[in-house]
Amino acid sequence: MKTIVILGAGYAGLRAAKKLVHAKLDARIVLVNKNPYHYEATQLHQVAAGTKEPEDITFDIRDVEPQKVEVLIDEVTEIDRAAHKVLLKDHEPLAYDYLLNALGFESETFGIKGAEENGWPLVDVDTALAARRRLESMLARYNTSHDENDLHIVVCGAGFTSIEYLGELVWRLPRLVKEYGLPEEKIRIDCIEAAPKILPMFEPKLAQWAVKYLEGHGVNFHVSTPITEVKPDAVVSNGTEYKANTVIWATGVRGSEVIAKSGYDQKRNRVIVKDDLSVEGNPNEFLIGDVSAVPNPAADGRPYPGTGQISIVQADCAAANVVARIKGKPTKKFVYKSLGTVCSLGPHCGIAELDAFGHMKLKGAVVQILKKIVNDRSVLEMTDIKTMLESN
Ligand SMILES: Cc1cc2nc3c(=O)[nH]c(=O)nc-3n(C[C@H](O)[C@H](O)[C@H](O)COP(=O)(O)OP(=O)(O)OC[C@H]3O[C@@H](n4cnc5c(N)ncnc54)[C@H](O)[C@@H]3O)c2cc1C
Repeated sequence: MKTIVILGAGYAGLRAAKKLVHAKLDARIVLVNKNPYHYEATQLHQVAAGTKEPEDITFDIRDVEPQKVEVLIDEVTEIDRAAHKVLLKDHEPLAYDYLLNALGFESETFGIKGAEENGWPLVDVDTALAARRRLESMLARYNTSHDENDLHIVVCGAGFTSIEYLGELVWRLPRLVKEYGLPEEKIRIDCIEAAPKILPMFEPKLAQWAVKYLEGHGVNFHVSTPITEVKPDAVVSNGTEYKANTVIWATGVRGSEVIAKSGYDQKRNRVIVKDDLSVEGNPNEFLIGDVSAVPNPAADGRPYPGTGQISIVQADCAAANVVARIKGKPTKKFVYKSLGTVCSLGPHCGIAELDAFGHMKLKGAVVQILKKIVNDRSVLEMTDIKTMLESN
């Protein structure tokens, strides 16, 4: 019997597991993940801002088709690709015939001095919770320290993660001000971005609307401002210091460090895959989700950005291609059409561009209503994995 090993129980890995189970193969399917739970990475900013609890965004992966998928809780340390074995921290090496690598993303510091030591990233449940504790403890400390830096927050980067975090933060802050009895006028939020634009994936008017909304709630944006250093109490850009004792680090992500350790030809731990999502020279090995880079023909071959939405479509394609390989049939090419992009601005607001029913641009409370009424949430960039696994 052939063994199919799936690494990572994020959007890509879980979806691939479901698809392979439904293919009813005579094969052993093993899903390896370092935690017994799946977390909704697309909702980590809510845990970090304290508007959701970890249990709201996690569920036990051992509940997913338990009779048909062997779940192994362990950390992948490396892949011995020549020997077709996955090396694990606490178990013996795991041999595979087919590999679906979906180990996901990690924080990217771009080598900026002090970013790793002093920035608080949002990359998993532990880091999101740590960021929340930092925020709350600094605000609470002000009452005894009277250090105004305790009331200052700097968010590094102005991409999706930062903007969604800021939306939650400005919604929650008035409640924290009341709870801790803080001087509201002394609270300061800065968002620092190296690029000249905020939310470049949205059409400029919509992105500008989001910026105005956040500015109206007290956020100061600094674009074209490359960060050169992160100190324990300040973010520095070419000599200018933005003082803050809470520094949220969300400038970007890279793929899992296991990619570089396993000898892949990679850039920022993302591997350019073939058009059927397999790896050059290894037809039985597929990379999906944030560890892969799929050239986008509509963007001169530049890779699609890593998103939950594309991870799921990739998982469907790669799972079908594993089935094809086992059955000796040709694999199919990966085809992707984004159905839309939604960026929340706290629990009651957001912006969206949808391509599902013609091109629609939405802003304000209607976006959150839309979130609630969309049934197949996997098709939009606001994935709820449990719903997704139950659908289709
Ligand atoms: C705050 C935030 C908001 C976002 N919002 C959106 C959005 O609105 N829409 C959207 O489409 N995308 C969004 N994204 C991006 C999206 O979350 C990622 O693209 C997506 O999670 C990638 O899925 P994945 O399955 O490749 O990896 P991941 O979700 O990173 O899952 C990887 C899994 O592998 C496990 N793992 C990692 N390393 C190891 C190891 N060494 N051993 C064993 N297990 C391991 C992890 O624990 C995890 O379970 C957002 C991201 C963030 C951080």
